[in-house]
Amino acid sequence: MTATARAAARSPQERVFERIDSLGDDLVALTQDLVRIPTVNPPGEAYQPCAEFVGERLRRWGYDVEYHRGLGERGDNDAYPRLNVLGRVAGRSSGPTIHFNSHIDVVEVGKGWSVDPFAGVVKDGKVYGRGTCDMKGGMAASMIAVEAILAERIDFPGAFEISGTVDEESGGFAGVGFLAKRGYFSRPRVDYVIIPEPLHKDCVCLGHRGVWWAEVETLGRIAHGSMPYLGVSAIRSMTRFLEKIESRLYPALEQRQTAMPVIPEGSRRSTLNINSIHGGQVEIPRGSDAAPSPVVADSCRVVLDRRYLIEELPEQVEGEIVALLEECKREHPQFRYAVREILHFPPNMTPDDSPLVQALDAGIRQVFGYDSKHVVSPGTYDQKHVQRVGHLKDCVAYGPGILDLAHQPDEYVGIDDMLASAKVMAAASLRLMGLATP
Ligand SMILES: [Zn+2]
Repeated sequence: MTATARAAARSPQERVFERIDSLGDDLVALTQDLVRIPTVNPPGEAYQPCAEFVGERLRRWGYDVEYHRGLGERGDNDAYPRLNVLGRVAGRSSGPTIHFNSHIDVVEVGKGWSVDPFAGVVKDGKVYGRGTCDMKGGMAASMIAVEAILAERIDFPGAFEISGTVDEESGGFAGVGFLAKRGYFSRPRVDYVIIPEPLHKDCVCLGHRGVWWAEVETLGRIAHGSMPYLGVSAIRSMTRFLEKIESRLYPALEQRQTAMPVIPEGSRRSTLNINSIHGGQVEIPRGSDAAPSPVVADSCRVVLDRRYLIEELPEQVEGEIVALLEECKREHPQFRYAVREILHFPPNMTPDDSPLVQALDAGIRQVFGYDSKHVVSPGTYDQKHVQRVGHLKDCVAYGPGILDLAHQPDEYVGIDDMLASAKVMAAASLRLMGLATP
């Protein structure tokens, strides 16, 4: 049998898996190269070189490459332009488009590192560095998955797309949000979107809880601090509101459990975080010897971070906060307040019977020999834009990396995990394109 005949006798998937195994060094080098571009957000450092680095590689593999700056979107500015990259490579016949979307931004380094966070240190089968786990390792794995299919010259129908987008960590408005508004995450252009966020190599992440961020301000009347009875303290008003949150809302939220398979399990209920509180005079910096002047606070503000469940009604989330504020007002006629919504994304969950979920399930079974676990993320990620703006249901997160390591010091991604995930992504793609091994 000639080499060509031998190759033809093996299934496309077998060939692609072997190819992925042979690309291990390339996968590590690609991850290192990505980590060495310090795309820290905020402020949105080095987005352009990172987008161009990805674009150059995609071009070498035959993708048509486009760059899109998120002009006019939240976060974009001339000092730190929000540059996104998107490549598309099409097969010879028509078929589904499978899009792998990764965010290129990483969070600040923070303290406590034992290695250089931007060196891409390889140690004990792991690549270390800021963004290795969240999510440059996942991005590299998805690029290698498609490159293996291209290198094997598999005659696939449809197309692959790879995008590197900005600002996921700060809401994704100039990234996936911007592209989604322009049809890049909608049918007929795209059929399936896989976001290689670090949700574990054998888990498929179907969606996320809802999020409602709002600022609640209580308003008072300024007066001299020695005669507080002449004014109205906004801080005392806030205390009244917070007391109701503590005694009434928190116990109620505890009771609300969800059928969504959220990980970690502590998040399988409704939660509220009081993100910040500011009241009265502008804060005097710690260590300063400036003295405060005596005034009654005329304003106090809290920022609320409320995460809610698919079983709750979106309007109920704001409604129950307003109801508590109204109750304060009835009890204290001088109580005045304002609520300002900062952002709101309802919960979403791709159905289990989506062909995308089933294809990833089959890939996980083939690579690991056991069934996948379906999970839901406690916080949102760019899927929200794909579903809300792009109206594309068939979108999930699947990628290597351990969620708990995201944003931590000494963040890492396992090399074997990246290789295994690349195989799952390739196997799922071949299945969606009708080239699966039964
Ligand atoms: Zn991420």
